[in-house]
Amino acid sequence: MNKICRLTIFLAFLFLASNLVAKEKGFTAFYTEHATIFYQDGVSKDRACEVGRDFEIAYKVVGKDLGYPKKKPRFYLYNSGKDMNDDLINNWGHGNSAITKYRLIPQMNWDYIAWIPPNGGIDLVAHEYSHRIMRQIADLDFLKKSMWFNEGVAEYTGLKALAVKDTGSASSKEKEWLKNVISAYRDNNLIPFKEMMTDDQWMRFFEATPSSGLNYSQDQWNHFFQTGSLPGLNYNQSAVAVSFIINQYGFDKVKKVLKMVGKGKPFPEAFQKVYGFSQEEFEAQFKAYLAGLDMKKIEATSTLILVFTVTTPVCQFN
Ligand SMILES: [Zn+2]
Repeated sequence: MNKICRLTIFLAFLFLASNLVAKEKGFTAFYTEHATIFYQDGVSKDRACEVGRDFEIAYKVVGKDLGYPKKKPRFYLYNSGKDMNDDLINNWGHGNSAITKYRLIPQMNWDYIAWIPPNGGIDLVAHEYSHRIMRQIADLDFLKKSMWFNEGVAEYTGLKALAVKDTGSASSKEKEWLKNVISAYRDNNLIPFKEMMTDDQWMRFFEATPSSGLNYSQDQWNHFFQTGSLPGLNYNQSAVAVSFIINQYGFDKVKKVLKMVGKGKPFPEAFQKVYGFSQEEFEAQFKAYLAGLDMKKIEATSTLILVFTVTTPVCQFN
């Protein structure tokens, strides 16, 4: 190796090292068994510890269903939604419209890094993390062409992790989902799955137009900014649909679809091959399921409806 080449490698190393330091400036590291939590100056260690515990639960829940990460994940915690948004744009190069315009949280990146707003709970941590594990099986390109399935699995997983931590909150959350979806079904407002396939189609639901069905008020945006949780029908419907298909046909089939798509099969074909019916036929099954649900009975029950076989794991880490 000649001198110039060695110097180039050295300079590249210095650049990467200074970049890492810059990104971690103003943050303190907290280590759990399977993740590193960087918490911004001003965020309490208790909050870092809580997110660490949340992740360890998500690690087990997602691991059992989808698999384990190839790298140790890192989470960045922020004082405010604004701090998070500024950091994403200024230090992480997230200048795209999803972040700047809709202030959405990016999915856990290729390097297993995720960004969590001040009140982001276990459901959000598990949701973002499960996107990354799905990307280990099928690439991002696929996930952006099967948005209802991709987001539905992430929501289902988030609910399952929440159910392990706090069954009462999980029960309220799924009741909220079911209420929204059943009333959309009754009002004939369900979104056809074929209109929730691509990333562009999905993004349209964030536009504040009457046709999007989602006119977010400033309060709702502020809530999202603090928690990462949006009350959108696209999320709720995808979550209930995916929970239904998992409860009917098992989680293994979800993994089979992901694996098949990871090998290059388009999502609708993989779906048809694994389940033995098309996405449109599934839509009819889903509607029949919703028609049979009684919201009054759902409100009265204290047991979980969409996720089950939940056991509380022993959370061990220092
Ligand atoms: Zn998502």
